[in-house]
This record gives sequence, structure tokens and C-alpha cells, in this order.
Amino acid sequence: MARIERTLSIIKPDGVEKNVIGDVLSRFESAGLRVAAIKMIHMNEEEAGGFYAVHKERPFYQDLKKYMSSGPVVVLVLEGENAISRNRDIMGATDPKKADPGTIRADHAQSIERNIVHGSDSPESASFEVPYFFDDKEIF
Ligand code: ADP
Ligand code: MG
Repeated sequence: MARIERTLSIIKPDGVEKNVIGDVLSRFESAGLRVAAIKMIHMNEEEAGGFYAVHKERPFYQDLKKYMSSGPVVVLVLEGENAISRNRDIMGATDPKKADPGTIRADHAQSIERNIVHGSDSPESASFEVPYFFDDKEIF
């Protein structure tokens, strides 16, 4: 059953650096996802670490905090039918070498770490991640 969902997306520092914000947004919009909230921010390591707290025991956590705080990012809320899984499909696999052709990561990502976009992976993570960056009154 199709459900209207909201999911948290991030165009990561490498996506902003590569000047592909417009391309990424246009892929979401073309797929029928609607931008319900958007802003550009530059996280510090603590903010990036809090966002990725679920990964704090992983070997890549320190590098991930540094990468995600290395430059500005675009954070957005996408809304649409099955938005959480559809966004993941549009993004492609975490490792760009394994991402399906035509996905954002296959087309733009340089490595398993520097992989251009983030997307909530479940309703539970979306319900933590959306309010991490947005108040209700910032989501339209
Ligand atoms: P996804 O972003 O696809 O949901 P994960 O939640 O597993 O992937 O990981 C979060 C982020 O951590 C990835 O997008 C990537 O930037 C980084 N990452 C994941 N796995 C690795 C790894 N093996 N080595 C380095 N960085 C990684
Ligand atoms: Mg994840």
C-alpha cells in the first residue's frame, strides 16, 4: 500500500562541492518526490556525530564526522508516496561501485564514504532525522 511519507535527505559536502545540488533536486522532483523543507548548513563535528550516533561503534565513525563537517550541506525533507524507500532507490547503494546505473551515487559518488547523498533508511530513522534539522514550522 502506498503511504505518504516524509524522509530526510542530505546533499553531502562532496555534492555541494561538485556543484550538483540542482541535478540531485531535479532527480527527486522528476521521480515525484516533493521538497517540503530545505536549507544549507555547515555542521560541526559534534552535530555530525549526533546525527550519525547510530554508527558510533563503527570503524569509519571518526572519518564520517570529519567528512560531514568538512563543508556546507543541503538538508531537505522529501515527501511523497513511499518516500523513504523511493529516495533510497534514487540514491543507489552506499558503495557507488555497487550502485545501479542511473542512480545518484553511481553517477556522482567517488567512494563508499564520499557518496554525495544521505537518505533515511526506515520510518524510525526518518522520525529521528527530520526533527534533528527541522522544526514543524519549517516543513511545508
Ligand atoms: P547509507 O548512507 O547508504 O545509509 P550507512 O548508513 O551504512 O550508509 O553509512 C552512513 C555513511 O557512512 C555512508 O553513507 C558513508 O558516507 C559512510 N560509510 C559507510 N560505510 C563506510 C565504509 N565502509 N567506509 C567508509 N565510510 C563508510
Ligand atoms: Mg544510513
